Amino acid sequence: MGDDRLSPQALADKLGAAEADGIVRCDACPVLCRIRPGRSGACARYANDQGRLVRTDPLVLIERTVDQNGKLVAFAGSAWDGAPLDPARTFLTGIGAGTTYPDYKPAPFIVSAEHAGVDTVTVVTEGIFSYCGVKVKIDTDRHLGPEAAPVRVAGEQVGHVTTAEYGSQMLSLGGVRHLTGGSKKEGNVTCDTLLQLVSGAAVELAIDTGHRVVVEAGKAPIVDGNSEQRMRVGCGSATVGIFARQWLGHLDEVIVVDDHITGVLSEHQSGRGLAMPPSGIRVRGRKSTPGRYFKVAEPGLGWGGTNITDPLSIIRNIDAKVAWPGLRLLITSTTGEDALYCVLDDNLRPVPASLPAPVAAVIQRIGENCEPARCSVLFMAGAGGSLRAGVTENPVLLTRSVASGETRVTMGGAPVTVWPGGGITIMTDVTRMPRQSFGSVPTPAIVAPIEFTLPRQLYLRLGGHAADIVELADVIASLAAAARVDAWQEENPWPFATDKP
Ligand code: SF4
Repeated sequence: MGDDRLSPQALADKLGAAEADGIVRCDACPVLCRIRPGRSGACARYANDQGRLVRTDPLVLIERTVDQNGKLVAFAGSAWDGAPLDPARTFLTGIGAGTTYPDYKPAPFIVSAEHAGVDTVTVVTEGIFSYCGVKVKIDTDRHLGPEAAPVRVAGEQVGHVTTAEYGSQMLSLGGVRHLTGGSKKEGNVTCDTLLQLVSGAAVELAIDTGHRVVVEAGKAPIVDGNSEQRMRVGCGSATVGIFARQWLGHLDEVIVVDDHITGVLSEHQSGRGLAMPPSGIRVRGRKSTPGRYFKVAEPGLGWGGTNITDPLSIIRNIDAKVAWPGLRLLITSTTGEDALYCVLDDNLRPVPASLPAPVAAVIQRIGENCEPARCSVLFMAGAGGSLRAGVTENPVLLTRSVASGETRVTMGGAPVTVWPGGGITIMTDVTRMPRQSFGSVPTPAIVAPIEFTLPRQLYLRLGGHAADIVELADVIASLAAAARVDAWQEENPWPFATDKP
């Protein structure tokens, strides 16, 4: 182990090859920039500072502190006060660490520290991910576009609409095919879109034969210029069931409009269970089971994700043998944002009327039970050859160890979901990562931090780069002054916790 292992500057010196006229060549990614003095490379992540290759972003450390009860917590302030960092409470992230490219190099930092009596190693690097993308969950009933429709930015396809989930529309963006398999412009636009989304910026996406949606991680989606407020309480059938008892006695029929499953209270099992008489009001669409109707209209931006803007248009007919004058009817959406109360006149025609107070109270309760509509952005990537070789000389052992849960994977300290099966395919919520965690290189690919934490003995058994292990305390001593020190996000599990993830 040499002292140069302690410094990203020293690491950068090893990466860069000096040429004539003070030019240095960066080989931290396949682009192999030749960088003139005072300039930065194509990704702006490395620069030539007086003939030396330097990483332009600071290394990021995350610290927990101790509260009055001796419990480890995130520190109260948002900035480091300059006090010495305790290795037992400090996590070294891959942000600003540098990469393992071209594959055979050990990771930039392989640090050891004792945690809860266990000698632990954390392998820290920035991964260059050509196989990566984001899964976007958009909490809205509104129809954004048909399944599999292309999603575009600046006219380029960057992904597609995928299977909708309960109360949310889903997009799958990026991936190796858009990054590498199309035109150069498609790859660059895709990479830039991914970088913006994972960095928490707002991005406007256009969906073929659909609508425009502005996506920003953790914020409300904006569909065709309108900010979405509520995520529905449930499907039409569920909404009917949840509030059936509260409507009883105040209404004779309730229709909850939903593009997928529209509910009709008197027919629904919940209405029958409460002994509601049939209303004779029949809705359009295909009956699935009693009180549950599919395809009552076309998908759209109207009521309950349908194209309905006139709620009475959902009624197919009213059976004069069953319905009666004075019948009280409520039609509502699954969020309660749209609601119409009607009373049947002597000709059994629904006549709109003002909402009676008890009915208005239930509509308000539907709204109260809706969660705020949000966009969730999950970064998904495969940790491939160079990453794994940077951890161990026998990469398959690392893969198996990650799959078994013995080796914990984090991204900027944030927990990841590891997909079952082969490889190391991971997914993480970008809002749980430190700010400015991501970068890109023009290959094009996304650069993201990744850390592997495991007991030292296990690391050695996996064929880890034992000669490159350094003490975390030494890294902190030599780098903390130039590093960025962030507060630990308390909702993230501490990677050194002894229980299995
Ligand atoms: S794009 Fe960035 S990482 Fe790649 S060679 Fe150029 S400066 Fe180095």
